[in-house]
Amino acid sequence: MGGMVLELKNYMEKLVWQQLDNVLAAQPDLCKCEKCRYDIAALALNFLPPRYVVTNKGETFTRIKTLEQQFYVDIVTAISHAITIVKAHPHRD
Ligand SMILES: [Zn+2]
Repeated sequence: MGGMVLELKNYMEKLVWQQLDNVLAAQPDLCKCEKCRYDIAALALNFLPPRYVVTNKGETFTRIKTLEQQFYVDIVTAISHAITIVKAHPHRD
């Protein structure tokens, strides 16, 4: 009713993409092509717990800010770990 379009989203995915560029910026000799970026994001997300939230047409709720602070260190650690793996085996199919 009333045009509500509810969706489930794994907010951890959004947080990983948000932090990815910051962490990659500190790695000047790393390949940053789309394939490597997606490989790094996928690996990092496999190291992290999923955090599903309900959104209304993409609108996000305020408790997400709390999630961001709670998981910041874990996210950066997971991305760094993923970079080490992708760096050792770049462009793996
Ligand atoms: Zn690459």
